[in-house]
Amino acid sequence: MNNLSIHIDRDVKCARCSDRASVRVRYAKLNLCDKHFIEYINDRVYNTIKRYKLPREWKRLVVGVSGGKDSLSLLYILSDLRERIGVSEIYAVHIDLGIEEFSASSLNAVEKACRETNTVLILVRLREIMGLGLPELVKTTKRPPCSICGLIKRYLVNLVGVELDADGVILGHHIDDILVFALKDVTTGDFQDLAKMTPFTPGLRGVLAPRVKLLYEIHEEDLALYSRIRGISFVEKPCPYKHHDLLKTKIREALDDIEDDIPGFKITLARRLSELAKQLSGLIEENIEPCKHCGAPSKTGVCGYCKLTSRIKGEPGGPRTRELIRGIIRSLR
Ligand code: SF4
Ligand code: ZN
Ligand code: ZN
Repeated sequence: MNNLSIHIDRDVKCARCSDRASVRVRYAKLNLCDKHFIEYINDRVYNTIKRYKLPREWKRLVVGVSGGKDSLSLLYILSDLRERIGVSEIYAVHIDLGIEEFSASSLNAVEKACRETNTVLILVRLREIMGLGLPELVKTTKRPPCSICGLIKRYLVNLVGVELDADGVILGHHIDDILVFALKDVTTGDFQDLAKMTPFTPGLRGVLAPRVKLLYEIHEEDLALYSRIRGISFVEKPCPYKHHDLLKTKIREALDDIEDDIPGFKITLARRLSELAKQLSGLIEENIEPCKHCGAPSKTGVCGYCKLTSRIKGEPGGPRTRELIRGIIRSLR
């Protein structure tokens, strides 16, 4: 277990005020009190925008929120930075997967966070959209739950971003997720996916919403501390379908070990990764073809969602889903 940022018990002063420090940020060699730790993380996200020269003119952003600590912390960070980054509208999109207790507590946490951050919530219920929740979809398709879930969530969150004509869709992926995904891509030879590991991926109007990884340099443990210090309620119980990916776990442990011995290693690696991914994205041209049924991005002319729904229901569900999403958005305006 690494300790990037740890709570300290000794009577150490905050580096930015005369209060007692509560957190030691190892990679930055900083002791900070609660208030200055929150500020520090907000500043790090703000600096990510500057470092990676992310677009600065953001009118409308969409944040995908699951109810976990990462995406909810992101929502609070964004609401603090709202004026500094000049964004006028922030929408949170939450997909209710219909997994009984887990989905109910996820939604509770999301609703509370949206109330506290004054964010408009776009709630998409899988049972209303597809007529089935994830448990039934898993039984019907016999496919691994996370693969169906990932496909549906990517589809719906992108659709909300496209329908809102958002300047960016942001997910709660932090540096640990990004590095693990990237190293797994290297191991499996998925260079097309590796090329997407840039902090910003441009969109295609009406088809693909631009994607922004604002937590590119924020560690998972920082987010755990951030959410605790800020008193953010989040779902602590893991999803009942969560499965153990041995390769990912081993990569994560190896990265944690190195970070323990060389604080700051992950940030250095993420910066190199951003350069590599940028160069790769210039070399590998992704062939995006709008789905002939619903206009979503696809490689073959039919998107994964339309293929999935055709198999389950006998017809592509994309067009109806798009209409339903439009209806949800209209009802908010
Ligand atoms: Fe979906 Fe898998 Fe995450 Fe559960 S663990 S929410 S099924 S991706
Ligand atoms: Zn302080
Ligand atoms: Zn489609």
